[in-house]
Amino acid sequence: MIFLDYNSTTPLDPLALEAMMPWFSKQFANEASQTHAPGWQARKAVDLARQEMAALLECEEEELIFTSGATESALIALWGLWESYGNERNEILISSTEHAAVLNAAASLSAKGGILRFIPCNHQGNPSMEFIQQHLSEKTLALVMMHANNETGTIHPVKELSEKAHAFGAFFVCDATQSIGKISCTVPDTGADLMFASAHKFHGPKGTGFLFLKRKNPRVQLTPLLPGSGQERGLRHGTLNVPGIVGMQKAFSLSCARIWEFAAHTSVLRTYLEQYLELHTGAAINGDMKNRLPNTTNVFFPGLRVASLIKKTPTLAFSAGSACTSALPAPSHVLLAMGKSEEESYGCARFSLSQETTRNEIEEAARLLAQACKELS
Ligand code: PLP
Repeated sequence: MIFLDYNSTTPLDPLALEAMMPWFSKQFANEASQTHAPGWQARKAVDLARQEMAALLECEEEELIFTSGATESALIALWGLWESYGNERNEILISSTEHAAVLNAAASLSAKGGILRFIPCNHQGNPSMEFIQQHLSEKTLALVMMHANNETGTIHPVKELSEKAHAFGAFFVCDATQSIGKISCTVPDTGADLMFASAHKFHGPKGTGFLFLKRKNPRVQLTPLLPGSGQERGLRHGTLNVPGIVGMQKAFSLSCARIWEFAAHTSVLRTYLEQYLELHTGAAINGDMKNRLPNTTNVFFPGLRVASLIKKTPTLAFSAGSACTSALPAPSHVLLAMGKSEEESYGCARFSLSQETTRNEIEEAARLLAQACKELS
């Protein structure tokens, strides 16, 4: 099997697994147990992980909340903002190409009286600055924009957007799930007041993630979603996942250390794949060619259904649209927002590479895809 779906998830880094192992078995204590040495050790491991992650993100330790991943973080962030500030500000400006996890968290606020304004984008997937400028106001609670898109890899001008939001006193919320570990993504890079990601996208464990909440200028004061035993500043209750947190930190450090190597390696292989497909199948590339994640390509095969291509290439793992929607026979909302017709969006596939992808794999995948396209046309 040639795996080309690394934006959906990544394998756990062996060094992250090694770092996690003791915390599953020998050192199993609850970090909230502060009456004995095993509990102190677990607390120390969590504190160290928080310290390291904060250093890499260039934020304060107290600004990080550990969660189960991006989906939960988005809910804590958006619902928490609404409950704290929704009375004063009830409009949310949100990119129409956000991941479903974030779109749906925001959409659920309309039942509470929130007004959602979906930011349109151009053919490359870049947001309309005119629309943003026109709709930002003293009523805007948050401007929500992902750093990099999961389907096309398009990187958004988040720093600039954060400044626009701040000029109106609105919070800037940034989903960094696809950019962490792939491109430089610190809190100052994005200008976010709230930022989140999932560890499994950068070779960490599944079921672990974080939420960054700014403490100063402005201080983000979230209302907790649920009552509970008070962990994570009362915003995310329940026993902490010590092995998950330790593994996330290790994977994060490793991925930051090899970020340039990752870009060089994956972008060369991606270029080979794109050029081969363009030449042999007449395919075209979707997204912003100049400003993309190095490992991601979204390919349009005119006149073809990607579902048929997937059936014809059983040894390749890639996706039609994002993983969360690929099981559903619905067109990608990202490609529709970029101006593709429904029919065209069914002809688009996402290939996402990793450090582990080899030249041989890419050559073989390109050949199999071209052959399948020929047979299907
Ligand atoms: N945001 C983006 C951009 C994603 O790609 C994903 C997962 O595909 C998510 C959010 C949701 O992440 P999780 O399922 O780990 O909560």
